[in-house]
Amino acid sequence: MARVFVITGPSGVGKGTLISGLMRQLPQLELSVSATTRAPRTGERDGVQYHFLSNEEFDRLEAQGGFVEHANYAGRRYGTLRSELERRVQEGVPIVLEIEVQGARQVRASMPDALQVFIAPPSLAVLRERLVGRGTDDPAEVARRLEVAQDELAAQSEFSHVIVNDELEQAQRELVALVQQALQGGEPLD
Ligand code: ADP
Ligand code: 5GP
Repeated sequence: MARVFVITGPSGVGKGTLISGLMRQLPQLELSVSATTRAPRTGERDGVQYHFLSNEEFDRLEAQGGFVEHANYAGRRYGTLRSELERRVQEGVPIVLEIEVQGARQVRASMPDALQVFIAPPSLAVLRERLVGRGTDDPAEVARRLEVAQDELAAQSEFSHVIVNDELEQAQRELVALVQQALQGGEPLD
């Protein structure tokens, strides 16, 4: 039975938005707080959205085997901490990882039972609008993220579950249904 849920897809597609709704509707889920070397955005707090680390701290943790997966994304490093996952997996607490595609591939190799969902935008133009509209990234960063997004979108066929986040409520319903079914031990629908 899937107890680890990987939500992936390009930046700005709505992963965070959909995961907030998912956690509200299925409060037994817990969210893994990742480590990153990127700077906190306004309002982000250490230990809440991310564990914000220096490059040296990230290196040290990596050398100690502290990451379940890690990747470079748009010039910064991101990783899932073993300490976030281990206790929950042992206790059977269902956990959600919000990670990019390279990390999702690593989890697929090491935890083949994890349920992986790729969130896709209706188009690249809509993705750009969302990234710009979110207002968290300067134009150079938006451009970097959109460039990475093209490779990520090309990888979506690797994922057996793809949800197109066009109309938010519809995508939200699909994600909740998929996770709920997996939690109940049913075969997830494709
Ligand atoms: P991600 O976590 O994948 O980077 P976010 O959840 O931050 O993406 O969403 C990016 C932006 O798009 C946010 O401003 C969010 O409110 C908006 N958004 C998310 N889903 C939709 C949707 N279905 N329709 C319109 N806007 C959306
Ligand atoms: P952001 O800078 O917008 O918070 O995140 C950038 C990208 O990194 C997003 O696609 C997000 O899902 C991804 N990400 C966040 N945490 C992790 C992690 O622990 N591992 C990996 N591989 N990607 C992550």
